[in-house]
Amino acid sequence: MNIHEYQAKEILNGFGIPIPRSRVALTADQVERAAKEMGGHCVIKAQIYAGGRGKAGGVKVVHHPEQANDVAKELFGKKLVTIQTGPEGLKVRRILIEEAVEIAREFYVSITLDRESSRYCLIASAEGGVEIEEVARKSPEKIHMLTIDPFTGLRPYQARKIALALGLTGVVCEDCVELLLNLYKCCLERDCFLVEINPLVVTKAGWLLAMDAKMSFDDNAVYRHREYPDMVDYSQLDPLEITAGKYDLAYIKLSGSIGCMVNGAGLAMATLDVLKEFGGEPANFLDVGGGATREKVAEAFKIILEDSDVKAVFVNIFGGIMRCDVIAQGIIEAASEVKCILPIVVRMDGSHVEEGKKLLQESGLNVQIGETLGDGAGKIVKMLGQGGN
Ligand code: ADP
Ligand code: MG
Repeated sequence: MNIHEYQAKEILNGFGIPIPRSRVALTADQVERAAKEMGGHCVIKAQIYAGGRGKAGGVKVVHHPEQANDVAKELFGKKLVTIQTGPEGLKVRRILIEEAVEIAREFYVSITLDRESSRYCLIASAEGGVEIEEVARKSPEKIHMLTIDPFTGLRPYQARKIALALGLTGVVCEDCVELLLNLYKCCLERDCFLVEINPLVVTKAGWLLAMDAKMSFDDNAVYRHREYPDMVDYSQLDPLEITAGKYDLAYIKLSGSIGCMVNGAGLAMATLDVLKEFGGEPANFLDVGGGATREKVAEAFKIILEDSDVKAVFVNIFGGIMRCDVIAQGIIEAASEVKCILPIVVRMDGSHVEEGKKLLQESGLNVQIGETLGDGAGKIVKMLGQGGN
């Protein structure tokens, strides 16, 4: 689960991490008023669930309130496309108005879960800011990493080693040690999957400030934080992802044309691989899970069909816990309800498979049966190539 920069900064501030003075606004007039409060000279920052805003025109310095109004009008009216949003971009619905800080140096710090070691990992670089991806690619030696032992936690001497590696000395170095310890505390207490401050700045006056913040929470821990669900900004999510969430389905939008309904994440990955092998491009990844009901399968199928990029549907289900005839009924029910004429290939195996296949063959839908995963993938790519016949 992701949140906005301004929300992440508020949380960080609650852990004693200093942030610039700011306000959030929903209209251009509010932006103008907030800019006036800041004395006119301030930074206008589009709030979207993606980074890379600076380079895409989503972070702008303004010098008087009317200018803030103009910039806000422009931002509110458009979808911001950054290197992290994909070509469709994200709508700007909220703007952060922040005091313009005089920056002396920009650093990168983050704590994230390292899946390989199953531990939190602290990452830092003295070359933070908007070019961090470039630094990671061209000079990886400038990125410092530390895996944190969950039993001892982050120790002050380790945080100090990182602060020194960033080239900090004296009071600012000690401030940075405290900041890193607080960042780790925040990760643990807030069940963060990622906390990133980029840039962490030293101001010309010598203060340490979190100038940008990105935070995402571990979805499996959301139930432990009653306030989290209310923090979600649904305007930043794909509407189909929201619907899928309601039915407890894992749905991820991809860029191709073949909708994929699969049970189990492992099988989903294998399905995407095999489809690609046959020259097909998946439009999504929809995992109905282990013990899905007929209704759930029907909902999943409808979600796939609602995506206008989908020109064919590939169902690959292993009916271990799920019965194949129940799955077939779900598919027929959903496809008939929305009058689906798209080509469908169903590959299934497991209990009641013959009954399931028979139901599909007699359904009158534009459906073919895949005997194996390869056979199914080959068939759907072929049907798609023939314009659905
Ligand atoms: P993004 O990472 O999405 O590009 P940032 O919030 O990091 O957005 O802003 C991009 C750059 O803009 C920062 O690296 C920093 O140099 C500058 N910047 C951001 N906020 C301020 C501010 N309040 N005062 C001065 N400069 C800022
Ligand atoms: Mg940033």
